[in-house]
Amino acid sequence: MLGGTSEASALARRLANEPGVAATLSLAGATARPAPAPIPRRIGGFGGPEGLAAYLKAERIQAVIDATHPFAARMSANALTACGAAGAALVVFTRGPWTPLPGDCWTEVAAMGEAVAALGSAPRIVFLSQGRLGLAAFAQAPQHRYLVRAIDPPAGIEALPEHKLVLARGPFALEEEVALMREEGIEIVVAKNSGGQATYPKIEAARRLGLPVVLVKRPKPPEAETLFELDAVLAWIAARRGEL
Ligand code: NAP
Repeated sequence: MLGGTSEASALARRLANEPGVAATLSLAGATARPAPAPIPRRIGGFGGPEGLAAYLKAERIQAVIDATHPFAARMSANALTACGAAGAALVVFTRGPWTPLPGDCWTEVAAMGEAVAALGSAPRIVFLSQGRLGLAAFAQAPQHRYLVRAIDPPAGIEALPEHKLVLARGPFALEEEVALMREEGIEIVVAKNSGGQATYPKIEAARRLGLPVVLVKRPKPPEAETLFELDAVLAWIAARRGEL
């Protein structure tokens, strides 16, 4: 299982007790101290699609569940190529994107670089809630003050002239998000359209406080069978076991 998401962690907990399934969780190594996993784990990149294909063959992996984040497009593309090359079955386990509700004030942009322009020229207090990735782009807009939240200190954060760093690991409850945005005087939120429940409270908090959100659209999803429910993934695994 290619992980790094709450969906992958939930599936790992279920697979830990699944008889006849020997599952391994793979993480990129993006966080210094990943949460403990209930199944065997490996950490670090494979070395592109060729490296992953070689790993799948060497470990005699029969099925791959791509439960990476919707923005981890490179890993998903690599998984598609590698599974084809190694003859492993592949399924994507993900969540649908968020859609706006009454009271949401979103500006949707195609990439993080475009989010910078969407903040406008007047100075604002900005909550960069997207984590460690894509921070460098905001150095081009030094008129704003930035609140950055990440699990580990992000590389390149010093490029942001005026910023405050909050180190914390989610999930964060709605009331926590509302309190943080109020305390910090946040005027606009930048987020990725990650979908799912784990990071949705910041979107709800912005709605409640009447704050605009600059939302980065998802990259193109991988062209592979895609499931959105954990039980459907367990059924998919059971069906593969029947075929093997
Ligand atoms: P990415 O750009 O798609 O992948 C970059 C490289 O990291 C891949 O080519 C691969 O290296 C390695 N990699 C990524 N996921 C891996 C995994 N699960 N196991 C082993 N190697 C992995 O991915 P990213 O956006 O940097 O995300 C990295 C990890 O953080 C993913 O596991 C993702 O689920 C998680 N995550 C990402 C975001 C986000 O917004 N991007 C948010 C939350 C969690 P090689 O080519 O050397 O194999």
